[in-house]
Amino acid sequence: MNAVTVRAPAKINLHLGVGGPRDDGFHPLMTVYQAIGLYDDITVRTADSWSLALEPADYVDPADVPLGDDNLVTRAGQLLADLHGREAHAEVLIRKDIPVAGGLAGGSADAAAALVALDRLWDLQTSDEDMFRLAAQLGSDVPFALLGGNAFGTGRGEVVESVRGGDVARWWVVVTAREGLSTPSVYRRFDELHPDASARPAAPHKLVAFLADPVEAIADLLHNDLQEPALDLRPELRDVLTAGEEAGALHGLLSGSGPTCLFLCSSADHAREVAAALDGVGDVVLTANGPVAGAHVVEYA
Ligand code: ATP
Repeated sequence: MNAVTVRAPAKINLHLGVGGPRDDGFHPLMTVYQAIGLYDDITVRTADSWSLALEPADYVDPADVPLGDDNLVTRAGQLLADLHGREAHAEVLIRKDIPVAGGLAGGSADAAAALVALDRLWDLQTSDEDMFRLAAQLGSDVPFALLGGNAFGTGRGEVVESVRGGDVARWWVVVTAREGLSTPSVYRRFDELHPDASARPAAPHKLVAFLADPVEAIADLLHNDLQEPALDLRPELRDVLTAGEEAGALHGLLSGSGPTCLFLCSSADHAREVAAALDGVGDVVLTANGPVAGAHVVEYA
């Protein structure tokens, strides 16, 4: 075996509760993650040095993805190699369908996929405990990208626990914006708007209890504390959310720190109808279903 391809999903937050910043500057979160069927594929091949290339979808601007040492895939490769005391040698290709800087955690998906792919290529048999520890070091959303499905996230989002019983397919329309929103700037605006935010955000008990219920039951329980600050920074996103609801979506909400907007629909056909009605409203209009699996091998060669 001299090549492995691993697929990792985008994430959305069905609930994103944010608290006031901790002493280390991170914000405490109470979130319900869902992995959705919008993926990046990472292929790693045996090589004598490290190299990284990108094959972007036509709506992804390659200029938005750094290919140097700050790419999360390179950082993942280095951390894994250091853990096992070996050289980080591989030829890596990122096939990117997840819009960049959209609040869909595409970089985190790539990091998770790289950990799994390189672990197999280098035949390391890294323990789950070490994989999740490295994932948390790489970023708050990376452990969830390993886990997939529906999960409850706490800490800064890196402490994840699968939520059972919610494996009912949900359909989403995903509307991206050409210009990304920087996550730190959205959190800064949150702090300005909520200087007295509690250290412990509210837990989404009701949503977790209703997760397997008919779609109408969860529509009104979707919530994102970062929506208000993101709309404050980018008021035109309000028009996108209104357009989605006018197009018949059950509920519209911002994905993570935005600017991607999500619309919950009642079926695959309904999602296609809403997507068609939203054509031209955002940059790219996609449909996806969730929950789906976390980072997983799709090909050995
Ligand atoms: P986050 O909320 O974690 O910042 P996001 O979903 O808004 O995530 P990402 O697509 O993960 O956004 O990208 C955020 C930034 O991470 C990009 O602007 C880019 O500079 C950097 N980055 C590093 N590695 C990658 C990668 N493999 N793919 C995409 N972006 C990457």
